[in-house]
Amino acid sequence: MTDVDVDLFVIGGGSGGVRAARIAATHGARVAIAEEHRWGGTCVIRGCVPKKLLVYASEFAHAFDDARGFGWEVGPVRHDWAALIAAKDREIARLSGLYQGNLERHGVVRHDGRATLVDAHTVAIGGARVRAGHILIATGGRPVRPRIPGAELFITSDEAFHLPTLPARIAIVGGGYIGVEFAHIFRGLGAEVTLIHRRDRVLAGFDDDLRDAVEAGLARAGVVVRAGGEPRAVRRAADGAIVLELDGAEVVADVAMAATGRAPHTAGLGLEAAGVAVDARGAIAVDAWSQTSAPSVYAVGDVTGRVALTPVAIREGHAFADTVFGGKAIKIDHELIATAVFAQPAAAAVGLSEAAAIARGHDVQIYATKFRPMKHTMTGRGDQVFLKLVVDRVTGVVLGVHMVAAEAPEIIQAVAIAVTMGATKDDFDRTFAVHPTAAEELVLLR
Ligand code: FAD
Repeated sequence: MTDVDVDLFVIGGGSGGVRAARIAATHGARVAIAEEHRWGGTCVIRGCVPKKLLVYASEFAHAFDDARGFGWEVGPVRHDWAALIAAKDREIARLSGLYQGNLERHGVVRHDGRATLVDAHTVAIGGARVRAGHILIATGGRPVRPRIPGAELFITSDEAFHLPTLPARIAIVGGGYIGVEFAHIFRGLGAEVTLIHRRDRVLAGFDDDLRDAVEAGLARAGVVVRAGGEPRAVRRAADGAIVLELDGAEVVADVAMAATGRAPHTAGLGLEAAGVAVDARGAIAVDAWSQTSAPSVYAVGDVTGRVALTPVAIREGHAFADTVFGGKAIKIDHELIATAVFAQPAAAAVGLSEAAAIARGHDVQIYATKFRPMKHTMTGRGDQVFLKLVVDRVTGVVLGVHMVAAEAPEIIQAVAIAVTMGATKDDFDRTFAVHPTAAEELVLLR
């Protein structure tokens, strides 16, 4: 097209959009990008990063206790929630600034404001219209609240990062990774936490033994887990408390948080006007190159409902830019994606769970262990390391590695390389151990 203002207009300045804009610009494209909230998107502003900072804050509670086992005399300690939130906000502002600077350095034109599609080549932004050769939708997702009476009383993860004070009692609804992580965060900082979820165990989709190990960690931390049910209604009591009505029971809390999933952020975007189709869940339907039903419009990240993780959105954004502007057609393989849950201790996994491997027809051989980490022989804390390998009995290929341990996300990141390369159990066995570590069990399981 010749009558365009830019070669690419990106809607959404989060993980996927910023990467795509930057890489397209390095390929020589004229790029503009719009962000309606804060640069950096969910991960930086109200997701992975602030969450991990709160996890660090919460973990200190254990560190003070553990230190006593090693001879430290620890005096009375108290936590200042407002100081934590202020420090976290400073770091988020710094990161958001880096995102903006990075875009500027690459010559990407930034628009602060909400962008919508007018047609498959035109974006409306702040009263102006921009014609683009290609449009990339990277608008992410939004938290959804349960559809029950009183649902407006719930906060979501968005507000959890900005609570004015630490609640004395918090009820969290949802047993996915966000619910589990926030349960530990608030518990570590001193709140009474009830985690309510509808399945038999938290973390649906993860290996069942890993789920058991995470549940054991929640119980050790003192989180009250109510499985197998959901609140039917929520109301505010006369004394200001929030009451969650379950079947035959009530949970009373000062704050109720819904961690009940996220939906693609597409409302009012103008998808129909541009001829962009969505799937049954409202996610933008894309092919393996992230192209939508409108050939000039692509979509990446959470808005496509594929795998809602930052590294995936970044990969998709990068692949899109290489494919459309770099002359290298790249498809993303969503098959092997390592992932972590920042529970305390943390959980992480790469590859197939035992159940998924069996469902795919593998004859599996399982190697698993559970042990007390060396550190806690001195602290008396009951934390356990859990490690499980799912191996194809015929080929010896390691199909999945599942771990619960303080360092599990770091360990699984490294082991994911071996699994991605197709390592076999024999490869693991001929690898020397690093002693004394928890990870050495990976190569010692017989
Ligand atoms: P986003 O990062 O959500 O960016 C979309 C951007 O588009 C937003 O900034 C939004 O304001 C903007 N936008 C939307 N509509 C418009 C419009 N019309 N005009 C202009 N701008 C618009 N992932 C991990 O990998 N690890 C984790 O530990 C992790 N923890 C998380 C914890 C929480 C509490 C949450 C909520 C998410 C977490 N995630 C984590 C998921 C991760 O944040 C997302 O997968 C990732 O941010 C998706 O990137 P994206 O580019 O698709 O969208």
